[in-house]
Amino acid sequence: MTRPTGFRILGVQHVSLPIEPGGQDLARSFYVDLLGLPEKPVPPTLPQHLVWVDAGSQELHLLVEDDAVDLNPRSRRHPCLEVDDVTALRATLDANRPAALLRARPVRQPDRVRHVRGRGVRAVVLRAEWAPRDDESGRFDSRDPERRIAPRANRTWRDPVFTLETRPDPAPSHDLVVIRVRACGICGSDVHLHERDADGYMVYPGMVGTPVTTGHEFSGTVEAIGPDVVDVAIGDPVCAEEIAWCGECLACRSGLPNNCTRLEELGFTFDGAHADLVAVRARYVWSLRPLLDAGIAQPRLFHLGALVEPASVAFIGLFVTAGGFLPGSTVGVAGAGPIGLAAIALAHAAGASRVVAVEPSAARRQLALAMGADAAHDPRELGPDGFADIARETTRGRGIDRWVEASGARGVAERMAATLAPGGRVVLIGRGPHTIELDPEHLIVRGASMAGSIGHSGSGAFGRVIELMAAGRLPMDRIVSDTVPLDGMVAALERLRDREAGKTIVEP
Ligand SMILES: [Zn+2]
Ligand SMILES: [Zn+2]
Repeated sequence: MTRPTGFRILGVQHVSLPIEPGGQDLARSFYVDLLGLPEKPVPPTLPQHLVWVDAGSQELHLLVEDDAVDLNPRSRRHPCLEVDDVTALRATLDANRPAALLRARPVRQPDRVRHVRGRGVRAVVLRAEWAPRDDESGRFDSRDPERRIAPRANRTWRDPVFTLETRPDPAPSHDLVVIRVRACGICGSDVHLHERDADGYMVYPGMVGTPVTTGHEFSGTVEAIGPDVVDVAIGDPVCAEEIAWCGECLACRSGLPNNCTRLEELGFTFDGAHADLVAVRARYVWSLRPLLDAGIAQPRLFHLGALVEPASVAFIGLFVTAGGFLPGSTVGVAGAGPIGLAAIALAHAAGASRVVAVEPSAARRQLALAMGADAAHDPRELGPDGFADIARETTRGRGIDRWVEASGARGVAERMAATLAPGGRVVLIGRGPHTIELDPEHLIVRGASMAGSIGHSGSGAFGRVIELMAAGRLPMDRIVSDTVPLDGMVAALERLRDREAGKTIVEP
């Protein structure tokens, strides 16, 4: 027997069970009334005495047969398996006809094949070797048994490799929205997924499952919607949240979706948008219609759409997690990457009196000024009391009302805490391997605080960021420095190791 090649069984689509003639009402009273499974219409080309019900993501098809109870050799009872490439499956079955268990029979109802797949979509796929360093454990993805998920990638995944592959078309089942990707940013996290440490392990510290299609800051147009989708229409320009918050854990039910304890992440634990098509649940999708209505043309519209995600990370940190932002505040931002740059523009739009940036890259300091910073400093040119000097200059000695730490560099948070205004706050967004050594007097005496912030969900952040973009007050597209096609992405990842560039956007 030849090994199966070219196709993959995706799961059980339905199971067909025989029932007695006239047994439909009895079947309905059990499956629909008692078990609560929703009945679904039988396609018009099929006999209408069938009863179909949804059972989770699979279906049960009840077919009427004489001798339903006995083992009738002519029975049409069967399980239906979903396959990604039916042509490749057929070739394998044909090649193994003598050994095949079952007699092949043509299907007479072609419209029962919901999606003609086979063609596949191009996707940039991350693969790595599972090699836990110590007692790290992981889990398998319940929806994709091939994918293994590690809570800490840098302890577990070795020799990461990115390749452009052909993957099955995503299917618009249930509440899924299939989006044709028009723009998807390459994030610092993507660079860290690609980079290896001295032992060959992924540098990225967070949760990662492989194989996985990367890409989590994206925009596109809606290609198809599942039957349970309500508020999204085919053809709409949209973007989507990266955090797949569960909605049911204690954090989610406390209004803290960014701190969901059962979250999955687009482009990290399930397939993302460095691809022609991506499928996300409707609850994470946001319309970009405000940009369209504001007369913003392509490709700018989709570049802005792809940058809603990093801008919303800054929005949540600056206004939600730290809370209590007042117009007239002085704001300092360390690290002028996409999140820091968004924080500068958001502080400016929200009525900050002065915004200062600290950033070693000259190109990024220029961007900081373009996004609304009043001054941008090179930390290497500052003395040991550099942050204090900045605070004194900027605020006439009062101190900074709000510092945003978006650099992840060692020693920055301490200096921020030491230069706060009374009631001031440090927002920690940048992540690094260092620890913070802090004199608590800085916070105690000034009634100041530090807040850690992660994520971009909740508080309508995406919608507010999109409206600010439509109003021309969040010109995030200015940070786009490069666009590459999908087949140029792996080379772009190599290039981005030096971190000098602005935002590189993949345009499939
Ligand atoms: Zn990112
Ligand atoms: Zn949750």
